[in-house]
Amino acid sequence: MRLSQFHLRTSKETPADAEIVSHRLMLKAGMIRKLAAGIYTWSPLGLRVLRKVERIVREEMNAAGAIELLMPSVQPRELWEETGRWERFGGQLLKIKDRKDAEYAYGPTHEEVITDFARAELASYKQLPVTYYQIQTKFRDEIRPRFGVMRAREFLMKDAYSFHLTDEDLAREYRNMYDTYGRIFTRLGLKFRAVFADTGAIGGSASHEFHVLADSGEDAIAFSSHTEYAANVELAEALAPGERPAATESMRRVETPTQKTCEDVAALLGIDLSRTVKSIALMGVDAENNPQFVLALVRGDHVANEIKLAKLPGLAEYRLANEAEIAEHLGSEPGFLGPVNSARPIQIVADRAVASMADFVVGANEAGYHLAGVNWGRDLPEPVLVADIRNVVEGDASPDGHGTLSIARGIEVGHVFQLGRKYAQAMGCTVLDETGKAATPAMGCYGIGVSRIVAAAIEQNHDASGILWPESMAPWQAMVCVINPKNDAAVAEAAQALYAELSAAGIETALDDRGLRPGAMFADIELIGIPHRIVVSERGLAAGTYEYRHRAAAESENLSRADVVARLG
Ligand code: ATP
Ligand code: MG
Ligand code: MG
Ligand code: MG
Repeated sequence: MRLSQFHLRTSKETPADAEIVSHRLMLKAGMIRKLAAGIYTWSPLGLRVLRKVERIVREEMNAAGAIELLMPSVQPRELWEETGRWERFGGQLLKIKDRKDAEYAYGPTHEEVITDFARAELASYKQLPVTYYQIQTKFRDEIRPRFGVMRAREFLMKDAYSFHLTDEDLAREYRNMYDTYGRIFTRLGLKFRAVFADTGAIGGSASHEFHVLADSGEDAIAFSSHTEYAANVELAEALAPGERPAATESMRRVETPTQKTCEDVAALLGIDLSRTVKSIALMGVDAENNPQFVLALVRGDHVANEIKLAKLPGLAEYRLANEAEIAEHLGSEPGFLGPVNSARPIQIVADRAVASMADFVVGANEAGYHLAGVNWGRDLPEPVLVADIRNVVEGDASPDGHGTLSIARGIEVGHVFQLGRKYAQAMGCTVLDETGKAATPAMGCYGIGVSRIVAAAIEQNHDASGILWPESMAPWQAMVCVINPKNDAAVAEAAQALYAELSAAGIETALDDRGLRPGAMFADIELIGIPHRIVVSERGLAAGTYEYRHRAAAESENLSRADVVARLG
């Protein structure tokens, strides 16, 4: 690529409204241009980087056995009604109407569409397991779009969905995707951590987030110095960029399910179970002892569908509440919680995960008893324990009993979930199993914020002069800079020859033949973060050398042409 024929438009101005460095640098480098709040055009330069990320994601997903498809972004309301998410998804769902007044959502995620595809296309267990993915534009009407493409309203996501006959097979693919994500972020050259996560509005059981470590991250994550233990602290709303979580703020740990019993949970939360005759529930209270939200701790089959559990901020502590008290708070009738069967595993739903309780639509044929007759693990994912851990600070003992906790800020760039069967169940997606019976497949879903990664990489890789792209994401690996190309034919020719040689050697190279003064040219190349810069000048040619500088190096070196090629090759 000759820069004289490319669209490169950098700016010296520091954009006033850009709060974090990646947003500032993407604007200064001319990678993106704002069209409306949270909606951006990717310039030719920006798009080159975005495509790099996309390519690595695609290659690794293909290598992991996932199959690419492409689903529509405009999705009919009726589909979202089937899962109840037309209402429940909340304000992030952009709703639109066509000329006939038919309603649609602009897809913020694609569980409904993929399940619709699967129920039509999958007939037999022989077609399972299968993992589909797409790389596609999403729209979420974020309350506070900010930080450029980091928290945009329109953004590019890789989303994958897997279908399985058994839970074991789902767990196997979950691990496969988890490992694949590790390979993707490693190839992208990012420092990252996988952490336990809560399953939020998407619901399900096991879930991990992948975070790029950066001080501007909106999430706080805690991880052990000795073990793999890591958890998202979910302080996103409470903290400003760069702010550290204070000792008084609540931190939460989400554990993988299955092994927890009522007794374990009771011990953890200090509850005397012998006092509990029916299902118990916990009420969160704020500092003034006002009810803030409710944890339903259900030992048994039944949870009423009328439970409207609100997530409210400012929780100070939990206390045990009786059913009548909870019912009053919820505006429900006492008796809304079903009978206890202490042999059942326990379901604790807390905070954001509360939203996922309403997602459970199994057996919704009798009002008030949506969970009636549920076979845990078959119909629904095994229960999740969401425990509350308070006052965690740097240096505390890790909850897994090994080592101490470090706290860092992170940017969520990926998220994997074991969804279980709730979407397939709600939408009547079945396949015939080995015995010819209809079976509801278990699902997993796996997201990566492709466009967010571009910003996250800059947060980790920049200096006072601009971006330092990891090699794998750079718009070009090398830039050949021509000093005075218009007036010096020999220099222009030598630069052209080097450019051709590097390109032929498979190094993605651009030629800066714009004829800018050296200072302005070098400033641009540093700003846009090209890893290798080679300057071709009259003085160098006379000495038989080319001035080579790595973007991260303090000094340049004079190398022969062969050495330049060898260095980059
Ligand atoms: P966040 O916690 O940052 O709001 P999320 O948990 O809502 O993200 P998911 O539903 O897990 O997001 O979507 C998968 C991935 O899509 C996220 O891990 C993130 O990298 C990316 N993503 C989500 N929202 C945005 C956004 N508004 N702008 C850019 N990328 C986003
Ligand atoms: Mg979100
Ligand atoms: Mg999140
Ligand atoms: Mg997420």
